Amino acid sequence: MTAIPGPKSQAIHERRTKVVAAGAASGFPIYVDHAHGAILVDVDGNQFIDLGSGIGVTTIGHTDDGVVAAASRQVGELTHGLFTITPYEGYVRVAELLAAHTPGDFAKKTVLVNAGAEAVENGVKIARKYTGRKAVAVLDHAFHGRTNLTMAMNYKAMPYGLGFGPFASDIHHAPNSYPYHDGLSGAEAAARTIAFLEKTVGAEDLACLVAEPIQGEGGFMVPAEGYLNALQKWCTEKGVVFIADEIQSGMARTGKYFASEHFGLVPDLVLSAKGIAGGLPLAAVTGRAEIMDAAHPGGLGGTFGGNPVSTAAAIAVFEAIEKGNLLGEAKRIENTLKTELLRLQAKFPIIGDVRGLGAMIAMEFVMPGTENSTKEPNAAAVSALSKHAFENGVILLTAGTYGNVIRFLPSLAVSDALILDAVGVIEDALARL
Ligand SMILES: *Cc1c(COP(=O)(O)O)cnc(C)c1O
Repeated sequence: MTAIPGPKSQAIHERRTKVVAAGAASGFPIYVDHAHGAILVDVDGNQFIDLGSGIGVTTIGHTDDGVVAAASRQVGELTHGLFTITPYEGYVRVAELLAAHTPGDFAKKTVLVNAGAEAVENGVKIARKYTGRKAVAVLDHAFHGRTNLTMAMNYKAMPYGLGFGPFASDIHHAPNSYPYHDGLSGAEAAARTIAFLEKTVGAEDLACLVAEPIQGEGGFMVPAEGYLNALQKWCTEKGVVFIADEIQSGMARTGKYFASEHFGLVPDLVLSAKGIAGGLPLAAVTGRAEIMDAAHPGGLGGTFGGNPVSTAAAIAVFEAIEKGNLLGEAKRIENTLKTELLRLQAKFPIIGDVRGLGAMIAMEFVMPGTENSTKEPNAAAVSALSKHAFENGVILLTAGTYGNVIRFLPSLAVSDALILDAVGVIEDALARL
């Protein structure tokens, strides 16, 4: 409708620079007015194909009818009760749904909180109380949040941690499985991780290992076959709580309720957030009842945790996944998008790798002519591609420790026609590059 950004977005942007903290920077200078399905509409009336879903949050689509109805109804009935004072049923229902849909056939319990980082914090608290141990292990290229504890758990200092210390102690960063770069089998990569945990940390001191089954911010690395299973087996033998951070990979995103299921992984605790409540803030720690109950009454909670409007929306999300066969839709998106991206990879050698599952797919960019040797990161290509896509109506997210990954996190409501439309824009940008 207008040049991008349009005049109304520019005017808001001008006001923003005076009153919004610089640290809360935005990827794109347009201001969204409304959205539905996989389309965002800005204040100037420009439409964008949203392939990021607010980093995998509106997984079932923007303003899903069921979520809007459930949340609207709930707003008129009860917006806050504080579950730890005067509880309500929606919280209990979400805990039942999470017990039913997280991996593992055993008694499970849940605590609800506000955001992903808070779920990570609570997972660690619970594991420490249960084991009586203090050390926490994470994997290289991980991202776990922006609170003090989770800043210490991230791989990348910039922008998440730099200058914000001092950080929490007893956090250990172990090597991960990154098949495109390390070339290791699952067994070899696991042996390397376990050697680090045994030699550098000491199993007897280790409360938990926190791992994203498919790393999000790090660049959508799908670990080599058997890697996660070997870590889980080792954790079980050593009494270490295995915590799967499924905040980005969970809630139907990869074609299963939780990505762990692709690997036959049964974590002791599963963390969910992002896609769980259709855009409303909600996060959860779900896991083995005996571990969850190690935290004493009053030891877990928070004023807004498990807010009634958020829990009403989450119940609607679970219903939508079932009714709309959204696990199947994630597979449809994988088929369409991966086929197209592999076609582009054959045509443009700067696309070093195409990987991912369901509606969680990435392309890693390398320097021209080096794709079979150094696999040197090409962040400039990613910036140029993302900029061209934005100016032509496609919201693309970047990722990767070296900023050289484009990650696709479309909503499961995105049609094949919209995917092909967006891929056309990407292909055009690559041809110009
Ligand atoms: C986004 C994310 C978090 C942090 O969630 P917030 O809601 O931003 O606190 C933690 N872990 C993973 C894997 C994430 O993708």
